[in-house]
Amino acid sequence: MQRIGIILNSFSKVILSKKAKDVIVKAAKIGFEVRYKEERIGILFGYVQRKVVYVKRATPYKASIAFRTCVEVDKNIFTARVKRLQSKYKLRYLGNFHTHNQVANSISSALSSEDKKPICENSFPVIEIVVCIWTSNSPVQQSQYYLQIRDEPYRIRIAAYLLSGAFPILPVFCKGADDA
Ligand SMILES: [Zn+2]
Repeated sequence: MQRIGIILNSFSKVILSKKAKDVIVKAAKIGFEVRYKEERIGILFGYVQRKVVYVKRATPYKASIAFRTCVEVDKNIFTARVKRLQSKYKLRYLGNFHTHNQVANSISSALSSEDKKPICENSFPVIEIVVCIWTSNSPVQQSQYYLQIRDEPYRIRIAAYLLSGAFPILPVFCKGADDA
């Protein structure tokens, strides 16, 4: 196995393309709207340049089983999908996104211990994106770290974590997406 040849701690931020952001938001909404709510996951592709992680594409991934707060994934099938899409897109595998649904009025953007374990064998992910979704009428609160999106009746908060060391949070940006 090969570690990527860059110092992970030197990353400064994550920039989502509008296309990737739209896929992530749609996946979160679908997972929220199904009966009993389901966690949704997906794969992130892009590149790293001058300490910035550019997410150009996000692709939803259909888990074998999805529950409200967890999914079951066959690692071999997942890894094969990552490899195939990497060469199709000619972009690097950056990591995954997964959703956190509001459950009993509570929601957290924090990475769980499960979230820190890589799904994909042999390809080292750089980041994990946590997408929180809940319903609210309140105004969107801007944040230094999260990308906050209003998509009525939803509020969506996108957080990115570096998958190294103490799993620090990296600020997320997407042009035109964070204006409430
Ligand atoms: Zn999680």
